[in-house]
Amino acid sequence: MGFREFWEQTCPLETLKRIESATAAQVAQALSTRFCNEEGLAALLSPSATPFLEAMAQRAHDETLRHFGRQILLFTPIYISNHCVNQCAYCGFNVSNRIERRHLSLAEVDIEARAISKTGLKHILLLTGEAPSLSTPDYIGDSISLLSTYFTSVGIEIYPVDEKGYARFIDAGADTLTLYQETYNKSLYKTLHPAGPKRNFFYRLEAPERAARARIRGITIGGLLGLDNWRREAFYTALHARWLLDTFPDVELGISFPRMRPHAGGFKPDFDVTDADIVQMMIALRIFLPQVGMTVSTRESPSFRNHILPLGVTRMSAGSCTSVGSHTLNEGSGQFEISDGRSVVEMAESLNRRGYQPVYQDWRRH
Ligand code: SF4
Repeated sequence: MGFREFWEQTCPLETLKRIESATAAQVAQALSTRFCNEEGLAALLSPSATPFLEAMAQRAHDETLRHFGRQILLFTPIYISNHCVNQCAYCGFNVSNRIERRHLSLAEVDIEARAISKTGLKHILLLTGEAPSLSTPDYIGDSISLLSTYFTSVGIEIYPVDEKGYARFIDAGADTLTLYQETYNKSLYKTLHPAGPKRNFFYRLEAPERAARARIRGITIGGLLGLDNWRREAFYTALHARWLLDTFPDVELGISFPRMRPHAGGFKPDFDVTDADIVQMMIALRIFLPQVGMTVSTRESPSFRNHILPLGVTRMSAGSCTSVGSHTLNEGSGQFEISDGRSVVEMAESLNRRGYQPVYQDWRRH
């Protein structure tokens, strides 16, 4: 059974009711057991968990220390094209937005990669919009190969492809996939993606397992926070991660918590996700999935990133910009505005001051 069948057996409305009706006794029960089950996860994400947040934070901190120590892996994104045929309502690269479009040549990818590598970072995340006639699989594969000459780990955050497509990118040097479902609410998903190939909910939902079958080393998933009720999104994200872990135990799994940021197009999310909500989500998921990596990006402010550091974070982006060629060309519009503009050096110093070790490289193939 794939995750699709698992997902199809659930009803989003019932799931939310289940979370919202959890009692304080169920929260206490979840905290008293060593291994948190699905029932416990629902309780930890519920409104009844509010009086338990301090105890949950302590448990999340202890689990994080036990599994990851005080190490934070640093990486940065590289945007190689902002052309996109999709109409995602919440994204600045939406084909309907009148923005400056840019598509890097391989020579420009090389210049950009060299500039980023001077920061000392060894992990990079390649991003491109979905424009397969321009950002072709060949172009993406060649960009991955090129980045592999500068970085020991090349992640991809690109449009979903089939299993053979992932195998090809892995051969080129990609070792991790980041792919956000955006929302696990299928009817809302259809509304937010009115046109373009991304409209296919299940093709996206099943992409992480296709990549895992192609033997990718690591996968990071998540929902875009603000599109739907955060408790339900967190619940499905956690179950998706647990399913992937159970099915592909050799894959290094990660979760990210991207929250909506201002962008071209002016889409207003229906759901406000507060800092306290993100904290509850992160610590609940850390208790449910003690060994899963957690990423907090520069979408969040420096003070908030500093504050949540001990609660479960294992990876952070630094020196980020969301426009194409931002490190050398200064052209093209960004996907969204970032909140934490600290350079790699500033980020590393901040981590050191807090007793954490910034890690530039934790993996290499060659
Ligand atoms: S979220 Fe991705 S697919 Fe959607 S418009 Fe933006 S770049 Fe394109």
